[in-house]
Amino acid sequence: MRMLQCPVCKHQVSLKQAASTKKVNGIFMLQCAHCKQWSHENHKAAVVKNLGLTLLITGSVIGYFQLGGIITGPLIAVIGGVIAVATLLGVPRAIYSGT
Ligand SMILES: [Zn+2]
Repeated sequence: MRMLQCPVCKHQVSLKQAASTKKVNGIFMLQCAHCKQWSHENHKAAVVKNLGLTLLITGSVIGYFQLGGIITGPLIAVIGGVIAVATLLGVPRAIYSGT
């Protein structure tokens, strides 16, 4: 599942474990249950992650219909999945300084 880390104390934050959640200007915020710090997804990471997810879905569709041979679709899907997971794990969440 989603492995999200608090940018301050590195405590794991997820929808289930978050102390609280809210939306600010359409951005989804999670409050760390450990240090009460609010954080949200890095904007650039979110864009790249969505790109990866799009590739994943596109590749799955191509693979399903076997367009361009049996390897093209799954290959695109795997690349997309790796991009999505890498950004999710590799880019730290942004600290939200508001209240
Ligand atoms: Zn924390």
